Amino acid sequence: MRLIKKVDVASRIVARVRKRGKVIGLVPTMGYLHEGHLSLVRIARKKCGYLIVSIFVNPTQFGPKEDFRQYPRDLKKDLSMLRKEGVDLVFNPSVREMYGPDHQTYVEVVDWSRLLCGASRPIHFRGVTTVVLKFFNILQPDIAVFGRKDYQQAAIIRKMVRELNLKVNVITGPVVREKDGLAMSSRNIYLNPGQRQNAVVISESLEWVRQAYKKGARQTKEVRTRMARMIRNRGGRIDYIAVVDKDTLEPVKKLKKGTLVALAVFFGRTRLIDNTVL
Ligand code: AMP
Repeated sequence: MRLIKKVDVASRIVARVRKRGKVIGLVPTMGYLHEGHLSLVRIARKKCGYLIVSIFVNPTQFGPKEDFRQYPRDLKKDLSMLRKEGVDLVFNPSVREMYGPDHQTYVEVVDWSRLLCGASRPIHFRGVTTVVLKFFNILQPDIAVFGRKDYQQAAIIRKMVRELNLKVNVITGPVVREKDGLAMSSRNIYLNPGQRQNAVVISESLEWVRQAYKKGARQTKEVRTRMARMIRNRGGRIDYIAVVDKDTLEPVKKLKKGTLVALAVFFGRTRLIDNTVL
């Protein structure tokens, strides 16, 4: 497994790999890896001949008051995990390598970047699409794997790929959870023990919707109210609870098959997200 920090070196390596006719797979991450990331690495490993994982905490997707500086990092541990998964190349550029001091170019999926998480994180998705497009250009992957934990992110990247005629096959993997149901996230380590216990209410509220839907509940408003109550009772501060169509991200009044229920909740200063598709 090679660790590459320079854009031109990575580009040269992938050009050689392409010449040999290998399918190139990419799993973009911000590091501090957990089983959720590894599940994507395993999906990609099965589908490609040359597997790249990028580790880059991308400053352009963090707002000025967000946790870019505090975001957890442990490259050594990440590398040892990736070595065991048979990864061929880890791309770990510095911020300076990715963004010059006068960087001005962004790509944005305009409307969808304002919905759901975008309402409280207005520049977030612009940063995500910009860095992912840069990775696609540098690393020329045939396939790229993203997690459905970040449902909106995957949807936005798919839309960018379609609308910019990129030749990358975007694949998604299911949400990987802790034993009690909490979606795995690098940010879970910010939680103190009490918050960690209470945070399980996020996935519990989604499980509650699934059951309620099975039993015939259809009214979005009622469901959102009940979920909000459950979450507040455990000390969560709700950023949003969205009930939308999974393909258009448009709000729906009635639950049906294919409805996406997505939410973001703060426990203390830690913002956690999760979702389910009915
Ligand atoms: P991150 O390092 O948080 O930017 O995540 C990198 C990739 O891993 C993204 O495609 C995420 O959606 C995915 N991911 C993060 N957590 C999980 C999880 N619990 N289950 C599945 N995929 C995940």
